[in-house]
Amino acid sequence: MATLRFQALKEASGRKPVKFEEADRKSNIFATNVFNESTMKQFLTKDAFNGVRDAIQHGSKIDRKLADYIAMGMKEWALSKGVTHYTHWFQPLTGTTAEKHDAFFETDFEGGSLEKFGGGQLVQQEPDASSFPNGGIRNTFEARGYTAWDPTSPAFIYGTTLCIPTVFISYTGEALDYKTPLLRALHAIDEAATDVCRYFDKNVKKVTPTLGWEQEYFLVDKALANSRPDILLTGRTLLGHTSAKGQQLEDHYFGSIPSRVLQYMRELEEECMYLGIPVKTRHNEVAPNQFELAPIFEEANLAVDHNSLLMDVMQKVAERHDFKVLLHEKPFQGVNGSGKHNNWSMATDTGVNLLAPGKTPMSNLQFLTFFINTIKAVNIYEELLRASIASASNDHRLGANEAPPAIISVFIGDQLFKVLSELEGVSSGKLSPAEKTDLKLNVVGKIPDVMLDNTDRNRTSPFAFTGNKFEFRAVGSSANCANAMTTLNAIVAKQLKDFKKEVDALIDKKGLKKDEAIFNVLREYIKQSKNILFEGDGYSDAWEKEAKKRGLSNRKTTPEALKAKVSKQAFALFEELGIMNHVEVEARYEIELEEYTKKIQIEGRVLGDIARNHVIPTAIRYQNTLIENVRGLKEIFGKDFEKIAKEQIGLIKEISAHIEGINSNVEKMTEARKKANALTSAEKMAASYCDVVKPYFEIIREHCDKLELLVDDEIWTLTKYRELLFTK
Ligand code: ADP
Ligand code: MG
Repeated sequence: MATLRFQALKEASGRKPVKFEEADRKSNIFATNVFNESTMKQFLTKDAFNGVRDAIQHGSKIDRKLADYIAMGMKEWALSKGVTHYTHWFQPLTGTTAEKHDAFFETDFEGGSLEKFGGGQLVQQEPDASSFPNGGIRNTFEARGYTAWDPTSPAFIYGTTLCIPTVFISYTGEALDYKTPLLRALHAIDEAATDVCRYFDKNVKKVTPTLGWEQEYFLVDKALANSRPDILLTGRTLLGHTSAKGQQLEDHYFGSIPSRVLQYMRELEEECMYLGIPVKTRHNEVAPNQFELAPIFEEANLAVDHNSLLMDVMQKVAERHDFKVLLHEKPFQGVNGSGKHNNWSMATDTGVNLLAPGKTPMSNLQFLTFFINTIKAVNIYEELLRASIASASNDHRLGANEAPPAIISVFIGDQLFKVLSELEGVSSGKLSPAEKTDLKLNVVGKIPDVMLDNTDRNRTSPFAFTGNKFEFRAVGSSANCANAMTTLNAIVAKQLKDFKKEVDALIDKKGLKKDEAIFNVLREYIKQSKNILFEGDGYSDAWEKEAKKRGLSNRKTTPEALKAKVSKQAFALFEELGIMNHVEVEARYEIELEEYTKKIQIEGRVLGDIARNHVIPTAIRYQNTLIENVRGLKEIFGKDFEKIAKEQIGLIKEISAHIEGINSNVEKMTEARKKANALTSAEKMAASYCDVVKPYFEIIREHCDKLELLVDDEIWTLTKYRELLFTK
């Protein structure tokens, strides 16, 4: 008997829900482990408090003396909560979070000891980070990297450690992490959007992009997950025949949450509460054992940090409930994959959501301005936006038949589509009084009513307007949102800057009134951006053809998609806005290519191992049983045996053919890997892994999956799809 599989099954089927009781109502524990405003007020002097607030709101510098005071307060607070260590918490380009804990504890060299934490330790650290990816930045400049405190994201306590969100930069100033470019992009859009807002309201001083992510994930029993080397090493199943029952009955989506899972969710949500992650909704997703968690939206930098933290917390809480969380975009073939919808908008410091229509024609014109500028930005930079979500694991989702396609398009719904069409008809130059009245009353003025009826939803669109925000749906479930958010905020910032220039020019040079100028520019934008608007079924073949005609890109693989990151357009964008310089952009490109290559390389090795060490030996064992059976039949029936043993003989041959198929293709794949490894350019290597190595995965898998169907279930060593997906 296949011991590991059956042991795991026994363990999993005997599990009882791990009971969890909430300590208190959520509002009482929310953010109690966060050094937020109310805690700061309690633990900081007035000057220190004002200093931090100034830094958060206006980006002012915190000097060393002030930092000392802040550190002192932070330490007191942390010690009062039983904390022993502190860490600079950052997001290197590996896509995960990094931390190195230091104790507050120190000796005074006179036999005594104390807890120490000064401004120096708060503000800057130098982790030995030589093995984080840097895309050649540190080699080129022979510089070390350091982490620096980001006061805009509050420190928090996790377990017994004080975590201080930081950026990670080289001594020559290049960003080595995800957070730095994000902060710069957020700054750029703040400036650009504030300028545009002031056409409508002079009181606006700051615009903050908002992000509400929706995190999809799979839960698999820990014992079952551990019984599969592919899940353990790659986060997904590399083989496995689809279960007879999958998601066809659609009985999982929004269904009642299984009790073991519910206990897990309760504990996870409570952990999130302490950490100030405002989680709000939970439900079953479409695939069996697939779930979703979503928070109330927050300022984008904080939301990104919270999502990174969440992915870590999810895994830790899962341990206690004997689950493994699979954040991979496609852990199982044949059922839905997981995404991380990024709901995005912009909010002013006067409390206005810039993507929500308002009460007056003027505020609706403001809405239209931001709405149309976003569409235009996506139209111009669709390839860069596609590149921002590219990864080996997301390739399984994009373009497959259940996720947004690799083509970026924008869905806005019928009603807004009509509004744009009407605006397109606005005449050039000055507007007649009648036209102005008509616009105000019948077009712009009607938007809120229109939007109330606008209930249509298009689930197949990668970038959809959903009433008061855009939803970037193509982001992968395992991704750090920073990548997508940096790009989205950067392209809209650039677009808003250009818009401002054009409107000002019409006002200054052509003598148009402000609203006339705005209408004129928006009209041209609508004309220019039509290609990106698509209201139909994004999963259909017809759309692929149509998109091609429109000249939209359709990059189905990561190495293809990533090229847009180093286009002239991308360099110019990031440099103009001060988000990333040439070196930083190139470094990221290199790192992402390398990551792609390594992932496919690991998958190839694991698949080769499993196919040869699990599948083939099992197939041979079963074949031997068949051979013995045939031999016995021959002994009993003599020359009649061939007729009687016909099926068995057929099976024996079939098994041999599959074994041959596996062996020869594993060999060819290994050869292909060797050739790819010998290439010196990261670009060529990634392309070779993508185009030459990866296609063997399918072929090998098919032989293995066929064998799974043929071989006696009792001796099959790999935990099967039905067991992974339906054990609750
Ligand atoms: P659904 O998309 O499933 O219908 P909702 O529309 O309620 O659900 O919101 C989904 C996500 O969008 C939530 O995380 C929510 O916080 C977020 N969201 C709502 N408004 C905004 C906004 N103005 N900016 C960013 N995210 C938002
Ligand atoms: Mg949604």
